[in-house]
Amino acid sequence: MSGTLYLVPTPIGNLGDISPRCADILAQADFIAAEDTRVSIKLLNHLGLKKPMVTYHRHNKETGGQAVLDRLLSGESCALVTDAGTPAISDPGEELVALCARAEVPVVALPGPCALVTALAVSGLPTGRFTFEGFLAMNKKNRRTHLEALVQEERTMLFYEAPHKLTATLADLRETFGPERRIALCRELTKLHEEVRRTTLGEAADWYAVNPPKGEFVLVVEGASPKEKVETTAGQALELVTALRKEGYSLRDAVRQVSKETGVGKNELYDLAVEQGC
Ligand code: SAM
Repeated sequence: MSGTLYLVPTPIGNLGDISPRCADILAQADFIAAEDTRVSIKLLNHLGLKKPMVTYHRHNKETGGQAVLDRLLSGESCALVTDAGTPAISDPGEELVALCARAEVPVVALPGPCALVTALAVSGLPTGRFTFEGFLAMNKKNRRTHLEALVQEERTMLFYEAPHKLTATLADLRETFGPERRIALCRELTKLHEEVRRTTLGEAADWYAVNPPKGEFVLVVEGASPKEKVETTAGQALELVTALRKEGYSLRDAVRQVSKETGVGKNELYDLAVEQGC
């Protein structure tokens, strides 16, 4: 009979946030698969535990994953931990869970620290419906494409962000959603310098342009208000493209602009425009 894979969330800053149940599972599992054993050893020392550890991270997903699966299939149990927070959430684990699911190996997820949930709860923005967007791409073009797809998103949006990318991301968020859109910047949650800055995209972009960001951030951005949503048919969008073409826009730029403003799909609009000889 195969063993169980336990997904064990670990503190995102405050070691006191490890739950008794998580500590028990770490103590009882046959071995621990860690994103970085040098990070996890600190937690184990804090708990007074000594355990065999293997690494499972984004660069050894295939070999590391198969090795963990083989041990599970032979009957051992494994606790998967990452550097901080919940495994499989913008962290290694997703593929290992899929591998186990395919092999019918039991997977048990323990509840515990997760930066996105902590940030959402403290943001002061609507929590009823939200969308987690993970990390935005490093590449500006891909980042903008991602954000443009969210122009009409009415749910609260959450992004993970690294401090060295924050200024550029805030500038892109302001340009895409407008300077008045509300944002909560949740920094260093559960740590000594924890801070929640509730402001607007315009003010946040200005502030961080001159005050270099430090620490870990979750950005919680207000969704579009329903009145901003414009229901435009493909035919109406085509008329807007034609008007922009007359103003001298290239076809590509006109389609991009109209798609962004109306929510009509870029590819659909481009094909229609070519078909109509715009
Ligand atoms: N799996 C983790 C979780 O459940 O939250 C997320 C891991 S992801 C690689 C790391 C990102 O989470 C950071 O870049 C930051 O956006 C966010 N994060 C982690 N700890 C944080 C904290 N204490 N305060 C604010 N954001 C944090």
